[in-house]
Amino acid sequence: MTDWQATLRERGYRLTPQRQLVLEAVATLGHATPEDVLTEVQRTASGVNVSTVYRTLELLEELGLVTHTHLGHGAPTYHPASEADHLHLVCRDCGRVTEADTSVADELVRRVAQEQGFETDVSHFAIFGRCRDCARSE
Ligand SMILES: [Zn+2]
Ligand SMILES: [Zn+2]
Ligand SMILES: [Zn+2]
Repeated sequence: MTDWQATLRERGYRLTPQRQLVLEAVATLGHATPEDVLTEVQRTASGVNVSTVYRTLELLEELGLVTHTHLGHGAPTYHPASEADHLHLVCRDCGRVTEADTSVADELVRRVAQEQGFETDVSHFAIFGRCRDCARSE
């Protein structure tokens, strides 16, 4: 039994097929919006609709099994909580999302903590710019 199955049971939730499918979709897709999750889930469970997916993602987030990140102006994207700790570099030109180690932002986090007393959650938002390939092709 995996951790998230145990977590759901401990908190008194049943692991319904829908919840399982949503969790599996999040784990498979990486950076998936609720719409992406819906498309993936519908491959095996055609009766699931987008509001079910939203509710399920909210529940799973409350339980600490998934987290979300904002990669742009649209819907948030989801990760299994166990994989969430990285920076997101989003290319403005091609839209590619590159992951970077959070330690890259150590200096920022340290200074903001020191100067503002602010605890930064660097994986929650994306850093926008231009990827190497797009910068080269200019
Ligand atoms: Zn990510
Ligand atoms: Zn958010
Ligand atoms: Zn690019």
